[in-house]
Amino acid sequence: MNDLQVKELFNTDIDSVIVLLVDDQPLIVEEVRRQLESESDIEFYYCIDASQAVFEVEKIKPTVILQDLVMPGIDSLSLIKEYRNNPLTQNIPVVALSTKEDPFVKSRAFEAGANDYLVKLPDPIELVARIRYHSRSFNTTKQLDQACRALRTSQQQLLDTNLVLQRMNGALRRQANSDGMTGLSNRRHFDEFLASEWQRACNAGSEISLLMVDVDFFKLFNDNFGHSAGDDALKNVAAAIRDTIIDEAYLPARYGGEEFAIILPGASKSEAAKIAGSLRENIEAMKIPHISPRLDSVVTVSIGLATMAPKNSGNSKDLIELADKGLYLAKSKGRNQVAIFGG
Ligand code: GH3
Ligand code: MG
Ligand code: MG
Repeated sequence: MNDLQVKELFNTDIDSVIVLLVDDQPLIVEEVRRQLESESDIEFYYCIDASQAVFEVEKIKPTVILQDLVMPGIDSLSLIKEYRNNPLTQNIPVVALSTKEDPFVKSRAFEAGANDYLVKLPDPIELVARIRYHSRSFNTTKQLDQACRALRTSQQQLLDTNLVLQRMNGALRRQANSDGMTGLSNRRHFDEFLASEWQRACNAGSEISLLMVDVDFFKLFNDNFGHSAGDDALKNVAAAIRDTIIDEAYLPARYGGEEFAIILPGASKSEAAKIAGSLRENIEAMKIPHISPRLDSVVTVSIGLATMAPKNSGNSKDLIELADKGLYLAKSKGRNQVAIFGG
C-alpha cells in the first residue's frame, strides 16, 4: 500500500453524512432542511432542477440521494437509472420519495435501482435514521473497496519485488559460481557439481566421465608473449571449450591456472573420447601462434580422460586422480593429444 492509498483510505470518514435532495418543490426542500437542521453533522444540499441532478451529484458527492419520483419535464426512474449507469454515482444509495404508498410505483423504483422508498414526508426520526443508515453503509463499502484495491496493489508490488529478487538471486548465484576471467564455472562450483553428480551416478548405477585439459607449454607462452596475451589465449581456449561442450548436462570449469576440467555425467568412455578429440582439434584449429615446441607452433592442449561407474566405497577424487594420470600420460607421450590411463 503506498502513502497515497493509505491517505485515501483514512480520508474516507465513515461517519460523514452528505444529503442531496432532488425535488422540484421548494416547500418539500424547506421541510427536509428544517427536519435536518438539528443534526449538526449532516450536510444538506438540494437540487430543484432535475436536468442538473447528475451534475450536482457528481459535484457534491453525497453519501445519500433523496430522489423525488414525480418531477416536471423528466422521468425520475430514468434519472435513477442514470445514477446507476454512471461510474461516479453508481454506488450512492438512492431513497425514492413518493407521494403515496403504491406497490406498483414502489416496485418500479426498486427495479430502476433505488435502495429505499419513503412516502413524503416521513417523521424526522425515521428520515434521519434512514439517512444515517444508508450513509454509513455507503461509507463502509467505499472504505472496503479502497482497502481491497490497496491490497491488490500491494500484492502486485510484492510479486514484482519477489521477481526482481529472484532474478538478482539467480544473477548472484551465477556470479558466485563462475570464474571471473573465463566465465566458465569456477573450482568451487566444479567441486560441488562433481560431488553431487558422483552421488547421482552412484545411486543410478550410471557412468560419469571427466576430462582434465591443460594448455601445452604455457609458461613459455607467457614468457614470450607476456602475461596479458596469456590471459587472452586462456579466454580463447575457454571460448572453444564453451562452443564444443554444448550439452547442458555437462559442466566445463576452470580448474586452476591454465588447466580446465569438464564433467560429463552419463557419458561413456567412447562418448567422452569423441568429445575430447573434438575439443583438442577445435583448440588447435584456432591457430593461436606459439613458439613452443617449434617456432611455428600454435596453442594446443593435452587432455586426460577418465570414466568410472561410481561405487559407494569410492570417492569422486578417484576420478580426478585417474584423469590426472591420463593427462600426465598425454604430456609424456608428446602433448597435443588425448590419453586414457590404463587404456
Ligand atoms: P606443460 O605443457 O607441461 O603444461 O607446460 P606448462 O608451461 O604449460 O606448465 P607449467 O605448469 O610449468 O606452467 C603453467 C603456466 O601457466 C605458468 C603460469 O604462469 C601460467 N598461468 C597460470 N594461470 C595463468 C593465468 O591466469 N594467466 C596467464 N597469463 N598465465 C597463467
Ligand atoms: Mg598445468
Ligand atoms: Mg600446461
